[in-house]
Parts: sequence; C-alpha cells; structure tokens
Amino acid sequence: MKHVTIVGGGLVGSLLAVYMARRGMVVNVYERRPDPRENDVYGGRSINLVVSHRGWTALRGAGVDQAVREITVPVHARMTHDREGHTTRLPYSIDNKAIHSVSRGELNCRLLTEAEKWPNVHLHFDHRCVDVHLDTATCTFTHDRSGGSVVVNGDVVFGTDGAFSAVRQEMMKGRFNFSQEYIEHDYKEIAFGPNPDGSPRMDPQCLHIWPRQKFMMMGLANLDGGFTGTLFMPHAGEHSFERIKDERDLMDFFQAHFADAIPMLPDLKEQYFRNHQSSLVIVRCDPWVHKDKVALVGDSAHAIVPFYGEGMNAGFEDCRVLNDLFDRMGEGDVGRVLDAYNEARVVNGNAIADLSLRNFVEMRDLVADPSFILRKKIEGHIQRRHPDKWLPLYSQVKFTDIPYVDAWNEGLRHDRIMEEVLAMPNIEEQWDGEAVEKMVLTLLDRA
Ligand SMILES: Cc1cc2nc3c(=O)[nH]c(=O)nc-3n(C[C@H](O)[C@H](O)[C@H](O)COP(=O)(O)OP(=O)(O)OC[C@H]3O[C@@H](n4cnc5c(N)ncnc54)[C@H](O)[C@@H]3O)c2cc1C
Repeated sequence: MKHVTIVGGGLVGSLLAVYMARRGMVVNVYERRPDPRENDVYGGRSINLVVSHRGWTALRGAGVDQAVREITVPVHARMTHDREGHTTRLPYSIDNKAIHSVSRGELNCRLLTEAEKWPNVHLHFDHRCVDVHLDTATCTFTHDRSGGSVVVNGDVVFGTDGAFSAVRQEMMKGRFNFSQEYIEHDYKEIAFGPNPDGSPRMDPQCLHIWPRQKFMMMGLANLDGGFTGTLFMPHAGEHSFERIKDERDLMDFFQAHFADAIPMLPDLKEQYFRNHQSSLVIVRCDPWVHKDKVALVGDSAHAIVPFYGEGMNAGFEDCRVLNDLFDRMGEGDVGRVLDAYNEARVVNGNAIADLSLRNFVEMRDLVADPSFILRKKIEGHIQRRHPDKWLPLYSQVKFTDIPYVDAWNEGLRHDRIMEEVLAMPNIEEQWDGEAVEKMVLTLLDRA
C-alpha cells in the first residue's frame, strides 16, 4: 500500500485525495489554512467558479458528482450588456447545454467532507509546507498556530498547492523549465445581492458580461439569488484601477460604462474600496514530475487566466487522467505512471493557457462585435445541419473531454475557414443560405 502526501487541500488536492483513497492508498493532506468548514477562510466573500463537462467527468470518476451537483446553478447562455443597457442573449450551445456555477468555498468544503469519509484519508490543517526533499518524497511542514514543525515521509508527494507552489519551488532548483507572466489586467470582486424578496436581479441562467474592449465586468449566479461580479481592468493606464481613486471617479466610471449595473449595486462604493484587487498570473512549467516521487497537479503545474473558466476543470482532469494511468499501468511502477502523466498533460496545460488568453479577447471585445455574433450564428447553423463535421471551439472545451490541445488545433482550422466565409460578399443577408453551407463544407474537406 502506498503512502501519499498531498500538499494543499484546495479544490484539486481534495479531489485527488478521494481518487487516491479509492485506490486504497493511505493519504495525508496538509493544508496551510484552517479548516474552511469551521473558519471563514474566504473572508465572507462568495467567489464562484464554473464547472464544465470535463470537470463533471472527473468528479464522477471519483464518485462525488452528486454531492457537488446539489450546490450548483446551471448557466445556459451568455448575456451581454451594452453601454446603453441593451442585452443580448447568446446560448452556449444549440442543444441547451449548461455549464454550472458553484461557490468556491462551498465546493472546497464539500470535497473535503467527501475525502474525509474515507478512513484512509487524514486531513491536517494549519500545516504549511516549507521544504520538500524530492528524492525521498519527504516534506517538512510548520504548524501555523503552534510554530512547531513535522517531517513526513511518504512514497509519493503530490503538489496541489496552487499557483505559488512550494513543491514546485523545490523542483525549480533542478533541471526545470519555468515561466511566469502577469497580464496587465487585475480583477476585483463586487457582489450583486438579490432583490429584497430574495429573487435574483438578473437572469440566473446566464453568465452576464459587460464587454468594453480594454476592460469588462461579468456576473455569475449564486444559489442565494445573488451574483458574484468580477471587474477585470488594467492595473494602470487609461480605464484602469489606478485611475479610480475616490468615490467620484468610481461613480463617473460606472455611469459611463456600466450604468445599468448601478441600481443593482446599492453598496458599490463600500464594496469597491473594501474589496481586494488581485493580479492574474500565467505559470507554465515542465516537467511536472520528479522521478517516481513527486508530481504537480492543478494550478501548481498550470496557473492560467480565468477567462475560459477552466483552471479548476483542468486540474480536476489532471486527477482523472492520473487515476486512469494508475488503472492502466498498475501501482508497481509509479515512475512509469508519472512519466506518462507528464507526457499526457504538459501539452494540454499549455493549450488551455493559450485558449484562456484567446477567450479573454472574445469576452471583452468580440461578444459585442456584429461579425462575431454572425460567426456564432453560422457555426450554429452548420453544427445543426452537420453535427458530425462541426463542433464549435467553445463546445469542445466546455462540453466534451476532447484534449485541450486537439480543441486548440481544431479551433485554428475553424478560424481559417470562417475568415474566408465572413469575407463573402453580402454574407450578412445570406448567412443561412445554401451557398454559405456549401462553402463551409468545401473548405472543411480542403482544410
Ligand atoms: C477570478 C477567478 C475566476 C476563476 N474562475 C474559474 C472557473 O470559473 N472555472 C474554473 O475551472 N477555474 C476557475 N478559476 C481557476 C481556479 O480558481 C483554479 O484553477 C483552482 O482554484 C486551482 O485549484 P488548486 O487546488 O490547484 O489550487 P488552489 O485553489 O490555489 O488551492 C491550493 C491550496 O494549497 C494551499 N497551499 C498553498 N501553499 C501551501 C503550502 N506551502 N503548504 C500547504 N498548503 C498550501 C492553499 O491554501 C490552497 O488551499 C478562476 C480563478 C480566478 C482567479
């Protein structure tokens, strides 16, 4: 029986604990923060995330999908809000498929509770990893409250300790490729409360987007009738967080760009100046493993920008793939399993990093662009008529388990085809005609 040390009991660490427990391994999870089920580690904020198809596949594989489904809200469409307050609803798929919104804190608590149901899982909170000896899979943790420390030996260490991973830090001392990039945009959360009677102020089945090219705001429904709003903006320059210095700047800015949101945010001023402004970082690295001893899983291996809502889903998929490889190769040669994991996942981690940056452009500019809306209509039309030949990129990422790297390549092929189609004369008038369909099919055969 293998003894597994999991560093970080966040979303990915707690799911991985369930997967490894199901294999009969003895699992010790060390988390630097207090138990979120007993302490408000999220500072009272209701930050939410979207679970997509591949996230559900991974949750199902660990037998925890039902427990999670109970705390989610289905989201079927984007709803864009223009400067005048007009809204446009764009369904995510032609067959009413949904992504699911969930509170990060509640999801973490659920997964920890599911992990703890296994007698072979031991959760240790307030333990911060300060050192890892890679060749022996030995970790040192300090206990944040008592100041004491503990040295833990195991057969394998999984680093699920997030974007600023201590485990990865140790791997960087050896032959290790690493890049870290801060994008110019920061973000700030602003909660939209429900109406006084508890009803939602906007359609809860939509992801609300206020695309303004250089910046944007989005809102995602919570179970309590409220929405978590997130404002993404450059940290400096014109239209930036830096420019909003006082209440007057804030209200002028909202009046100019998000006027329809103001009546829904009676406490905007308090929230804006109270809530933390956070940065967004992209981390790529390679390899994700060290011999048969250590593997990075989740954000520690691939921190990405949140614009596809796939960071956690990608981390959950890491867990599912790792488990599939153990199923296929057995537990006798862990080194072989970790090598195969590295081979399978690094390329996909890089692909979802690229896809996420691409979706940022789509969300902030294109959803308000008539040619983007036309492209979506044409794609929907072709998909309806030829579902075996055309699956839009968004659907591949959010509604299938197609590897991210294959989706990325197929998306590039779609771009080439659509560029030619949208260049057709009078395309606006005849987009649903036979000529367009014929052209797409010809280009598909050629591309
Ligand atoms: C604004 C925003 C919106 C997002 N929206 C989505 C979305 O809609 N869908 C989606 O799939 N993803 C989304 N993401 C990404 C998602 O939040 C991350 O991909 C996900 O949280 C990664 O999970 P993780 O467990 O790998 O890392 P984390 O959630 O960061 O968890 C790491 C854990 O390790 C602990 N830890 C850290 N260091 C140590 C240490 N030294 N010792 C012990 N423990 C340690 C931390 O306390 C934490 O609990 C979003 C991210 C942001 C910023």
